[in-house]
Amino acid sequence: MQLYQHILLAADFSEHGKTVSAKAKQLAEQNQARLSLIHVVDYLPITDVTYGPIIPFDVDLTEELVAIAEQRLADLGQELDVDKERQWLEVGSPKLEIVRMAEENDVDLIVLGSHGRGGLAVLLGSTADGVLHHAKCDVLAVRLKDD
Ligand code: AMP
Repeated sequence: MQLYQHILLAADFSEHGKTVSAKAKQLAEQNQARLSLIHVVDYLPITDVTYGPIIPFDVDLTEELVAIAEQRLADLGQELDVDKERQWLEVGSPKLEIVRMAEENDVDLIVLGSHGRGGLAVLLGSTADGVLHHAKCDVLAVRLKDD
């Protein structure tokens, strides 16, 4: 039985991301579903309350970060056999962009990790929590407990 038709893997390229991507790939195969990938570059200049922006606002690193992310996404796409048009790179708030792209592209399952690069400081990371609360489709938060 085909439970899902379009699965979206939210990738942050962290160490334990491999566990998450392996599950997304397996679910896509079992459901004969399309698999898409998303990574969101959430760059914001670092600001100190007293001294203002530590990285001046006229130094925009977005382009550099996007170029690096593009390459990583392409590598992941190759590893998981996902075509270029289903490798989505966005700039902004990860939770908002993941939810928006899922809605706009008729995704019926979002797969992400229970926490990301920030570690296990809280039970659910802020991206996982935000997506769980706002997505209109099913969300699978793969439990990561390696750290
Ligand atoms: P977090 O809630 O930030 O600890 O991350 C939880 C999960 O959300 C990660 O394991 C990833 O699957 C996903 N995620 C986090 N940040 C991003 C990002 N910038 N782009 C895409 N997915 C992300």
